[in-house]
Amino acid sequence: MSFHATVLTLYPEMFPGPLGLSLAGKALEAGTWALETAQIRDFATGRHRNVDDTPAGGGAGMVMRADVLARAIDAASPEGDPRPRLLMSPRGRPLTQARVRELAVGPGAVIVCGRFEGVDQRVIEARGLEEVSIGDYILSGGEPAAQVLLDAVVRLLPGVMGNEASGEEESFENGLLEHPHYTRPADWEGRTIPEVLTSGNHAMIAKWRREQAEKLTHERRPDLLATGKTK
Ligand code: SAH
Repeated sequence: MSFHATVLTLYPEMFPGPLGLSLAGKALEAGTWALETAQIRDFATGRHRNVDDTPAGGGAGMVMRADVLARAIDAASPEGDPRPRLLMSPRGRPLTQARVRELAVGPGAVIVCGRFEGVDQRVIEARGLEEVSIGDYILSGGEPAAQVLLDAVVRLLPGVMGNEASGEEESFENGLLEHPHYTRPADWEGRTIPEVLTSGNHAMIAKWRREQAEKLTHERRPDLLATGKTK
């Protein structure tokens, strides 16, 4: 088993969801990776099995309780578990292809999906949760974010992608957005394929693609050129 994911969630029925189909689903079936979910509510006590409570200091919404979440984490990931503990969170470090690549060569991940307003700060600190964001927008829960992260990781696991080479040319892998793609028909609605691509001159094609990638990145994501932050 190369990658073992455990997802802590109030909605385990959302999994495997999209991860059960296509590349990730085939790899799951083949045992290239393993996916396990834990129902956080199973670790709640009391008649109502509350997993959340009102925010200290007042305000709207509810907060996930530290004690309940800690019990769920401790059961899923006892001391000595080498897997990183991630908390999907809009306050987290934005997920990059570099972090995805690191995770893919590791033993797996324990992923906590938040709901409501988020989780009690104390459990983040006490259990060393690494907050990971998938972008500057707010989801209603961490589950789709966990699926995004796992999809990105699983496609990098050995044997998952048919054509291994295609992963290395992808957007972000070299700090650039990818060049445009074309396929048959050669003429579609009067639009033709750039001549260089049908020339058979591989050096020229590589040069053209590189130039296109640089131009696109310059136009759309100059921040990538400035910081090299996907590296
Ligand atoms: N009140 C919080 C948002 C809570 S959204 C705030 O303003 O920061 C509820 C849950 O959805 C979060 O706990 C988190 O697990 C998940 N979530 C929402 N947006 C996310 C994002 N951009 N990336 C990762 N997880 C996100």
